[in-house]
Amino acid sequence: MISFNLLIAVSLAYVAFLFAVAFAAERRAAQGKTAWLRSSAIYTLSLSIYCTAWTFYGAVGYAARSGLEYLTIYLGPTLVMIGWWGLVRKLVRIGRTQRLTSIADLISSRFGKSTGLGVLVTALAIVGTTPYIALQLQSVTQAMGVFAANSGEVWGPSDLNRSAMWVAMGLAVFTLIFGTRNLDAHERHHGIVLAIAVEAVVKLFALLAVGIFVVWGVAGGLGPTRALIDASAQAQWAPMPSRWIGLIFVSAAAFLCLPRMFQVLVVENADERVLSTASWAFPTYLLLMSLFVVPIAVVGLDLMPEGANPDLFVVTLPLREGRDGLAILSFLGGFSSATSMVIVATLALATMVSNHIVAPSWLNARMPGAVVSGDVRRVVVMSRRISITAILGLGYIYFRVSGGGEALAAIGLVSFTGVMQVLPAMIGGVFWRGANRWGAVAGISIGFAVWAWTQFLPSFGVDAMLSQAVFERGPFGLSWLRPHALFGIEGIDPLVHATVWSMMLNAGAFVLVSVLTFPNPLERLQGAQFVNVYEYSSGARAWSHSAAQAEDMLVMAQRILGSAEAQALFRAEAAAQGKSGLLPDVTPDFLSHLERELSGSVGAATAHAMIAQLTEGAMVSVDDLIAVADEAAQIMEYSSRLEAKSAEQERTARALREANEKLTAVSIQKDAFLSQISHELRTPMTSIRSFSDILRDGEVDDTARRRFAGIIHDETNRLTRLLDDLLDLGVLESGQVQLNIGEGRLSDVLDRAVMASGIDPARVRIERTPAHEGVTLRTDLERLTQVFINLISNAAKYCSADKPRLRIKVRQTQGATEVDFCDNGAGIPPEFESMVFEKFSRLEDQGKAGGAGLGLAISRQIMTALGGDITYLPGQGGAGFRVTLPAAAAAPAQ
Ligand code: ADP
Repeated sequence: MISFNLLIAVSLAYVAFLFAVAFAAERRAAQGKTAWLRSSAIYTLSLSIYCTAWTFYGAVGYAARSGLEYLTIYLGPTLVMIGWWGLVRKLVRIGRTQRLTSIADLISSRFGKSTGLGVLVTALAIVGTTPYIALQLQSVTQAMGVFAANSGEVWGPSDLNRSAMWVAMGLAVFTLIFGTRNLDAHERHHGIVLAIAVEAVVKLFALLAVGIFVVWGVAGGLGPTRALIDASAQAQWAPMPSRWIGLIFVSAAAFLCLPRMFQVLVVENADERVLSTASWAFPTYLLLMSLFVVPIAVVGLDLMPEGANPDLFVVTLPLREGRDGLAILSFLGGFSSATSMVIVATLALATMVSNHIVAPSWLNARMPGAVVSGDVRRVVVMSRRISITAILGLGYIYFRVSGGGEALAAIGLVSFTGVMQVLPAMIGGVFWRGANRWGAVAGISIGFAVWAWTQFLPSFGVDAMLSQAVFERGPFGLSWLRPHALFGIEGIDPLVHATVWSMMLNAGAFVLVSVLTFPNPLERLQGAQFVNVYEYSSGARAWSHSAAQAEDMLVMAQRILGSAEAQALFRAEAAAQGKSGLLPDVTPDFLSHLERELSGSVGAATAHAMIAQLTEGAMVSVDDLIAVADEAAQIMEYSSRLEAKSAEQERTARALREANEKLTAVSIQKDAFLSQISHELRTPMTSIRSFSDILRDGEVDDTARRRFAGIIHDETNRLTRLLDDLLDLGVLESGQVQLNIGEGRLSDVLDRAVMASGIDPARVRIERTPAHEGVTLRTDLERLTQVFINLISNAAKYCSADKPRLRIKVRQTQGATEVDFCDNGAGIPPEFESMVFEKFSRLEDQGKAGGAGLGLAISRQIMTALGGDITYLPGQGGAGFRVTLPAAAAAPAQ
């Protein structure tokens, strides 16, 4: 019988020893002696935090319940270390060149230093890890309870809670001391790493010792143990292939994605070369850890009383045999597993919380510019400490709330599947340049939601978080949303179900959204550096503040600003520094100046990133910067093309609108005219009919008869003219006009037109420029005369002036002849200008003088047929029309 107090004393001594180890490591590291701390042995042992108390105690319980299935939990990481060694190496290289501090940092950096993604991954990690921390507290306190019972004390729940709280507080103190001592840019913690390496040895040693004791000390050697194994029912359980594959996949993914694994695997790794040793040494460690699991399980089942908890066989078996020392060693093994996991997990989470949530919000809340570096440091350390305490507190609360026991037993795998949701974004980010942040956000969010629904919430048990009804019929009766039968596919093992659906939808969304959206320049830059990390980190040029650097900056600036502007900028700076030529010294002042200039073209963020990469990040090549610059230029060109296009569309729309307005106006006019034309036709018709009636029937004297016949004659002429005009226009418009080409002088054509228009020279004065009228025309002279007559008679008809005057001016231009007809009347109002050449268009209130509104329309048709043009000339005082005769028409005859 050992006393419980002895156990506590030994445990405290062990903890004190760990403190001493950690202190010693920190001291040596501070003296710069880190070589042995970076050895492959210590690295490999530190990876063993993968084996938590869940594995130490739980593997035996697992084997007792489900046979060999527990092996899958070891097979996953083994496959990663052996088969995916390349991925691990790439992650480590990226981690070093990018100075990654956590898995959230990896995702956020890869996708353009996205704050949102950092927060998302951090939240996922907290939700996935807190239950796991609770599980560790439970394992340790349950084991302590065994010893208490052994020494005669009966532990109730409050005793378990109290001891869990002490353990949590002790772990918090350890993590606070060694986790926040130095804020090294690489987040390496030599003290903690060495302590967990020691713990790794202790737990392996303990488990092997218990195993050897159980096989040779209790069962009586290998033969009887085999017999026991063969006899046990579990040996007959055939493995379920789908569940095995699922479990191996989940544990392999978790090995890469668990925040604590990323911490030891990538962040704490100082030398890539240790990986080659770890790739075989760590699987060997796992093999040794799993070696005696089945023997302990079967012997325990055989010997221990019915109902004994198989999770505690590693402690209870030695106690039953009276091996108190071995039992205490075994307890220390489990204790080591639990504490090393909790310490590293807490540390990793605290780093994420402070780097991705606390520090950014603190910096945002402050006025920009007022940040002193000492300040930031203080804030980071403080937030790190608060986060550590809060996370352990959260683990403890979860332990209390969940009530321990069964609810926690399954949480290990649930937790694995949760953090695994980062996997697609991680693998995609490292191997696929096309991956972008929207894809990552979509994938992780969807995966997270599917996981929460199909596994996390159900893990609390039926009627705890989700009701029985939801399991059977789905939420709101949506049966395709049943947590264990998504989309109606039933009968799959819940773990496999959750894994397959969450991974499929996660990866699907990640790829699809990445393909459909565009990464920003910084993301592209980061993408290139992640995917091609080996080229960047080995082949990149070493930078110094040299002329070569200035030259490369000039090359980049030229791409962005244009060569003239960039050269002027550089030359001015060189001159200011008293140097001749183009290349100034790269001073901080110049850099910020250059950054401001660049940000005008590519945006502040890109400019800052470019300059920062040029000056600090030694790992980016000039070619990459240029590629980014080119992309930005292309984007701008593209957007300016878009702008031009939309301006053009606007113009077209405006033209269409105008045309439409004109059409409406024309059609209104036409309707008005049709009613008018019937009126105008009827008026002469009526007078013709009434006068002819009088002539036929009445007794009319000779003078009256002659007068009436004259009226009939005039009215008939008017009708004929109208019909002639309409017919003429119809022919001209249909394009079937027959041209009668002849030769004549312009002056003759004008003479004839003036005469034919029949205007009274006493009333209307006509001014001409005979000197210019000597051109010989070769065209349809009749038609041209018709146009002139129309213009001259219009001037006579519509000129409102007291003394109407018409100027006919001839001008020779580049091979064409222009004949302008300008009168001194009121002219045509601007809003009517565009209408005068339309059919039936005429101004209001012109009284009797007004014609049918066809003259100008006919004239324009004729001029078009003759290859010339007729236009209205605004701003001439009165109305002005210009007739343009084409070169051929005006050319002298040969
Ligand atoms: P109409 O057969 O009625 O003369 P036109 O097509 O020749 O038809 O002219 C269309 C309209 O343009 C006229 O009704 C008149 O309102 C206006 N117009 C034409 N020439 C002149 C002018 N010299 N001065 C003022 N208004 C004019």
